[in-house]
Amino acid sequence: MTRHVYRFGGGQADGDADMRELLGGKGANLAEMNGLGLPVPPGFTITTAVCNHCQAHDGAYPEGLEQEVDGALAAVEAMTDTAFGDPVRPLLVSVRSGAAASMPGMLDTVLNLGLNDATRDGLAASSGDARFAADSHRRFIQMYGNVVLGVSHRAFEDVLDEVKFAKGAELDTDLAAGDWLAVIERYRALVLEETGEPFPEDPRAQLWGAVGAVFRSWGNARAVTYRELHGLDHAGGTAVNVQAMVFGNMGEDSCTGVAFTRDPSTGEASYYGEFLPNAQGEDVVAGIRTPRPLTAAAAGADADPPPMEAAMPAVYAELTAAFTRLETHYRDMQDIEFTVQKGKLWILQTRTGKRSTKAALRIAVDLANQGVISRAEAIRRIEPERLDQLLHPTLDPAAHTRVIVRGLPASPGAASGVAVFSADEAERRGSAGDDVILVRSETSPEDIHGMHAARGILTNRGGQTSHAAVVARGMGRPCVVGAGELVINHDTRSAKALSCGFAEGDLVTIDGSTGAVMLGKVPTIDPELPEAFHELMGWADGIRRLRIRANAETPVDAETARRFGAEGIGLCRTEHMFFDGERILAMRQMIMAENAEERQAALAQIAPMQRQDFVELFRIMAGWPVTIRLLDPPLHEFLPAGPDELGEVAARAGLDAGALRRRATELAEANPMLGHRGARLGISYPEIYDMQVQAIFEALHATADAPVELEIMLPLVFSRAEVNVLRGRIARVAEAVTAATGWTPSYTVGTMIELPRAALAAGSIAESAEFFSFGTNDLTQTTFGISRDDAGRFLAGYLEAGIFAVDPFVSLDAEGVGELIRTAAARGRATRPDLKLGICGEHGGDPASVAHCHDWGLDYVSCSPYRVPIARLAAARAAAGSGPGSPDGTA
Ligand code: PEP
Ligand code: MG
Repeated sequence: MTRHVYRFGGGQADGDADMRELLGGKGANLAEMNGLGLPVPPGFTITTAVCNHCQAHDGAYPEGLEQEVDGALAAVEAMTDTAFGDPVRPLLVSVRSGAAASMPGMLDTVLNLGLNDATRDGLAASSGDARFAADSHRRFIQMYGNVVLGVSHRAFEDVLDEVKFAKGAELDTDLAAGDWLAVIERYRALVLEETGEPFPEDPRAQLWGAVGAVFRSWGNARAVTYRELHGLDHAGGTAVNVQAMVFGNMGEDSCTGVAFTRDPSTGEASYYGEFLPNAQGEDVVAGIRTPRPLTAAAAGADADPPPMEAAMPAVYAELTAAFTRLETHYRDMQDIEFTVQKGKLWILQTRTGKRSTKAALRIAVDLANQGVISRAEAIRRIEPERLDQLLHPTLDPAAHTRVIVRGLPASPGAASGVAVFSADEAERRGSAGDDVILVRSETSPEDIHGMHAARGILTNRGGQTSHAAVVARGMGRPCVVGAGELVINHDTRSAKALSCGFAEGDLVTIDGSTGAVMLGKVPTIDPELPEAFHELMGWADGIRRLRIRANAETPVDAETARRFGAEGIGLCRTEHMFFDGERILAMRQMIMAENAEERQAALAQIAPMQRQDFVELFRIMAGWPVTIRLLDPPLHEFLPAGPDELGEVAARAGLDAGALRRRATELAEANPMLGHRGARLGISYPEIYDMQVQAIFEALHATADAPVELEIMLPLVFSRAEVNVLRGRIARVAEAVTAATGWTPSYTVGTMIELPRAALAAGSIAESAEFFSFGTNDLTQTTFGISRDDAGRFLAGYLEAGIFAVDPFVSLDAEGVGELIRTAAARGRATRPDLKLGICGEHGGDPASVAHCHDWGLDYVSCSPYRVPIARLAAARAAAGSGPGSPDGTA
């Protein structure tokens, strides 16, 4: 006979973690924890198969289910020494849904099921708290009335408001037990009026009502939409978990709490968490009372009131033993909810704990060093993107700051931006390109989009385990919570601290590492990378195959790149060297020149500066490969844009304004991306490349004591013939340098592959090129026929319609652009087996694209300096392949 109900409790369980499909994630985990011998409130899981049966049979249950549930319920009664519906020792249960994949949209939770007038009095007697019992009862009617019977939450709240108004009460806490009894009566009347049926008072009827509602909720519109959006199977079904309630508010020997087995901010191997004596979980969330630290270390010596470690030493010892058990079992840091009821510990939930990037690194490295996980798994546990959080600047301690208020440091890092007071506004301004700080009293799941769009998050309520804190840490956003002295007014969109305040649109800065909130934008400095970062990156470097270079043309960028571990420069865009002060003047003279001699004369002014640029770059990159790309953009980019600016520039440069205007008109490109640029420019105006190459060789000569591996790169070619022309000129410059100095430069010449034709002609081009660098910015534009600058106009629509799964300018299009890269690589290497292959478009710093480059056999990727560590880790993860090691719990 098929079994429909799986029991757990008393250190035993019928199921285990492997039975997710049948028991749902929650049920499987509850079973697993029981199997580990942990004190989990007993209960049972009705399988997902029952859900599917109901769906197929018009809501009818399979035969025998009722007897199985009765048996399981009797077992729970026996284990808890209570009875369902018993007026003296009432059993109360929670009823929760739980599918194999976490799935919002379904009926979530009904708590305190089993309450009626009689059992409420029993609860009042056993807890010694009539007010709590009455409040629990009215909450139950409200929750059940809403999620099971479909009465609107608002209708219940209106009743409550009326009672509060009549009593002159402002807060729920101002109501006494008798007031709650009045609320209960009015709630019952409301249910009768809205549904035409009295509220069910029989606990068994309540239970079956809730079970049926959970199963039905699998098919409700929100759940169906969610599954459709996430590609989940409609045939999966949800399980129902029925579990004995436990209470942390039954006296001073009771408490409720939340703990992390390691510090989720730093990753330190010390317990981290909070507890609240004589309280329920809701009290912690509501922030009515301030929770206390778990450990003596966190509370400080002689803390008053004492931490849990001192207040309840025996239960604390039991709790920490459970931490060890759970962490060892799940091989990762856990986030645990627990309750102590009259001195008895209950573990309510455990899950992989969310953590900051810093903590994720430290934990992965510590676990690997302890032999709990392999180094490859440690590498797989860190999402490369998350390193971004560490690599970005923190507040400059030397900066003058004016802290207007302090909250709790909840997620590290500093952020500045304009204050906004709603998630929608954060999203709106964020997508318009503003840096924003989302300011809320507290956050809830409805705010997630705004939290994503924000640089930082600030709240005036909640603790370090509040929604805002947990989610911000997971997202890697700096966050300050519980800044209680800040009075936030969401209506006027402003906030006031004691001394001053700010309104929407004002610049504010938060420091998630200290909890400080400041007005204005505060300068920042580069971060110090934690020890665990270096250790993990060392392991990553040991297993990756791809080389990682940086796109850099200034000494500052080159230094940053080296500091972050770049193995050379994969793209030095020399045009950036022409924009500075006097150089742009000489450049404009060159553009205005009537003939080659005049052009040469203008270029001669730039040559020494350009040489010096290369000398500096070569010194920093001594011993590493450096790819220098000859001038790429069309010349009009060096001319002033508007008529006003044109006149001004002409006056300053001593040029004729009319002539300058004519030249600008001549040079105007209908489509700059496809115009007179790159190799085309080099062929039309050979003096430009000659000057550049000469400067490069002279710089190489000047640094001959510790030379770089010089690679000269030609942009935007589509044929071998272009390469041959330009190569020939480079060789002639080299010969001239040798003739003048007696020294022979060592260099290679290669091309960018930025045009589909170049990719297809790669076999021929490779005869004259010693390396290819895929310029995936241009290659993406030219493959799709989409200009990157104009893509913004329709990209969002394309993403929404699913035409693009991801922005192809961020993450390599593996089909079209990827096909061209693979073709070019194969054809190029067929001609020249040792052809060096790399990419230098923005995709070089995108983890998914890096993984493609690994798979396609490229030699290196080149990306912006700040993304070098991300690329190093992404390359290591690609090399490590798949295996144990889920994402790092930092979703
Ligand atoms: C490219 O096209 O990918 C590239 C790196 O060149 P640029 O971005 O300078 O056009
Ligand atoms: Mg390009």
